Amino acid sequence: MAEPKADIALIGLAVMGQNLILNMDSKGFVVCAYNRTVEKVDHFLANEAKGTKVIGAKSLEDMVQKLKKPRKVMLLVKAGSAVDEFVKKLLPLLEKGDIIIDGGNSQYTDTQRWCKELSSTGILYIGMGVSGGEDGARYGPSLMPGGHADAWPAVKPIFQAICAKVDDEPCCDWVGEDGAGHFVKMVHNGIEYGDMQIICEAYHFMKDILNLDQGYIAKVFEVWGKRVLDSFLVDITANILRFKDSDDEYLLPKIRDAAGQKGTGKWTVNSALEYGVPVTLIAEAVFARCLSALKDERSKANKILPSATVRFGGDKGEYIDYLEKALFASKVISYAQGFMLLREAAKGNNWHLNYGSIALMWRGGCIIRSSFLGKIKEAFTRNPSLENLLLDPYFTRNVSASQMSLRRVIAQAALSGVPMPTMSAALAFYDAYRSRILPANLLQAQRDYFGAHTYELLNNPGEFVHTNWTGHG
Ligand code: NAP
Repeated sequence: MAEPKADIALIGLAVMGQNLILNMDSKGFVVCAYNRTVEKVDHFLANEAKGTKVIGAKSLEDMVQKLKKPRKVMLLVKAGSAVDEFVKKLLPLLEKGDIIIDGGNSQYTDTQRWCKELSSTGILYIGMGVSGGEDGARYGPSLMPGGHADAWPAVKPIFQAICAKVDDEPCCDWVGEDGAGHFVKMVHNGIEYGDMQIICEAYHFMKDILNLDQGYIAKVFEVWGKRVLDSFLVDITANILRFKDSDDEYLLPKIRDAAGQKGTGKWTVNSALEYGVPVTLIAEAVFARCLSALKDERSKANKILPSATVRFGGDKGEYIDYLEKALFASKVISYAQGFMLLREAAKGNNWHLNYGSIALMWRGGCIIRSSFLGKIKEAFTRNPSLENLLLDPYFTRNVSASQMSLRRVIAQAALSGVPMPTMSAALAFYDAYRSRILPANLLQAQRDYFGAHTYELLNNPGEFVHTNWTGHG
């Protein structure tokens, strides 16, 4: 039998798998490629992988024999049952110390389940979030591995070689126990929903309230992308706005305004509800996509329900400045909520998350990459047990300087009848979070009134009492 020579096997030759294999190959690793539809292996070797060191396997048994020990097998297949099927087939072929890495968008609970099931076998399991799409996979993704920590030293050299780097630091580090990697990736995707929607709202404001020409809006985003909002999503927004079709007309207004979604934003919101964390901005971003998808119903309602009648009478330049600050404040609040969710999930699952290092992992390679994440890293370096991002001196200072702009933008949008669901959610969160007294006293009284749920008195904390509000028996 030939000497095993592959450093790692990768199963799944769709867009992500192929690109990740070529990335690993370019960094000097020998990869063994395999796919459920085995013909795709030969096709890949003869085309995309032609001239590389990549080798192929005809079966899982063949693949396992070609791997150096401890064997590392990475899955990049459809999340869910495809992962389960492959793990079950791999288990009898692997031995103690071998490592399975699931790099798909799996639910973190699936990863938790596999970590638990495998812990008695000695086979190690990693659930790794991979972000950056096909380009990221090929030239440097953001990688978020979690699971059995004993596996990390064996895979670290490979993953830290292929991931994105910012200031020579790899956008990949060990995240934490069992499903922590996939959870962090899920929150990353939720934050991505929020980032995209706040940008869309700023565009909507400039288009329909300030009545700016699309080329001008592109320039505004271009300028913003060079300042505090410096990010991949702001950059691509400027490019999209500038893009003209073959008929020399802008393409954007021709695109149907009904958003799709694959579900990871919804997972983040489901988790937020499960852990009781007010991740309101991402929730509104998910619902904004749902509302946009009601295209036909909206067109009908447009003919029936009246719009606002107040016309914009302010200074456009001033409002562009307010919008930049409003976008920044909303973004800070969204990340603050995302990190609140991470903290609560870490508590619930006994994960030891390093929040600063998570911010670093997102700083390059992925869709939400931005210089802003460097500031989050600095905040958690200043105070690793920071309760909330809004309470870090840098963010407190900057959100304080932006909050009036956010109010002006929301007020103007409300008067003009332009929906700003995520920015409004950001402001409502900000005001609730900074409120010493909320009307929840009335809520508690209502609950006690109709359901005898009891309430606590401010001057007697810890003691729950009931009042007979109607005076009846
Ligand atoms: P994909 O379309 O999600 O999955 C295709 C791959 O899964 C193929 O190799 C396919 O094999 C295999 N597969 C599907 N059903 C299977 C089953 N029941 N049993 C065994 N294998 C099965 O591929 P992708 O877009 O490259 O994504 C791979 C993973 O990365 C997914 O979890 C995805 O969510 C995640 N991801 C994707 C992106 C992206 O930008 N596309 C970004 C980050 C993460 P056959 O060739 O035999 O059909």
